[in-house]
Amino acid sequence: MSFSTTTPVIAIHGGAGTLSRASISAEQQAAYRAALDEILRSAQAMLAGGAPAIDVVTEAVRQLEECPLFNAGRGAVYTADGRHELDACVMRGSDLAAGAVAGVRTLRNPILAARAVMEAGGPVLLIGPGAEQFAAECGCETVAPEWFDTPHRLAQLHAMQASDRIALDHDAASHDAPTVPAPLDERDKFGTVGAVALDAHGHLAAATSTGGMTNKRPGRVGDSPLVGAGCYANDRTVAVSCTGVGEAFMRGLAAYDVSALVEYVGLPLRFAARRVVMDKLPPLGGRGGLIAVDARGNVALPFNTEGMYRGWARVGEAPVSAIYADEAGPEQ
Ligand code: ASP
Repeated sequence: MSFSTTTPVIAIHGGAGTLSRASISAEQQAAYRAALDEILRSAQAMLAGGAPAIDVVTEAVRQLEECPLFNAGRGAVYTADGRHELDACVMRGSDLAAGAVAGVRTLRNPILAARAVMEAGGPVLLIGPGAEQFAAECGCETVAPEWFDTPHRLAQLHAMQASDRIALDHDAASHDAPTVPAPLDERDKFGTVGAVALDAHGHLAAATSTGGMTNKRPGRVGDSPLVGAGCYANDRTVAVSCTGVGEAFMRGLAAYDVSALVEYVGLPLRFAARRVVMDKLPPLGGRGGLIAVDARGNVALPFNTEGMYRGWARVGEAPVSAIYADEAGPEQ
């Protein structure tokens, strides 16, 4: 077993969007930070114990799917016809192995299904009932589609349909909806979750999971389950997980673009990540952000919205979580 001299590190996100800072209590902000911190500490402990990055990002995203504060797994948003269609992807940087599922309705943890697809070593992306059947055969927990129903998300759907809009998770809540105010405005936030990690062996991995966009057309798939768009990992370059307007991240191949700028242009991670998020995505309508870690343990978490739920933790150091743009990043 080989060990890298670089300190292992995990970074996670829970979506990006605009702020509702003025109306948010310290307790509500603290709830989001506590959720991020708890997941970071758990991942940090795994990394300290020598766990592979692929296991660490899978588990971190599973925990984010289980956390009702974020739009992935339970609490996922609704499609236009009042259902849930979930997407997830996981990728291992050491051999470019990847697995993904899209449009699944009965899998409790889509990220575990994506991992099962990766481990099988055949197709990279399975969709709909075929993905559900395969995941069930692999032992993934299945639930009734109604298991993902929540009054909060249903109110968001009705609000969006009343104004004939399609929205990213946090664009979708109504002022009148019975929502608990969140630090990022639920009417204008992307709710995808993700994790990237560098492990003690020098390997990278990335994972992304989402409920997609409120009032999305049934069958619509965004960037999250697409290798190179919303998720990418390559030990030679970087691990990336994105959140934002999926169509723009797909058209810009956002995650792979960061890797390409590192590999072919030689840009340091922070400049490559900012170039994609600040320069390349906005002309495509690409509101959102990404998290990235490279093989040297550099971390970048750029976003072009007012805030992004995010955090990072190096082994041996206190985890740091942040929401707003004016909070210091890992490189400041
Ligand atoms: N990127 C996701 C999608 O387009 C949405 C999000 O980040 O919340 O499905």
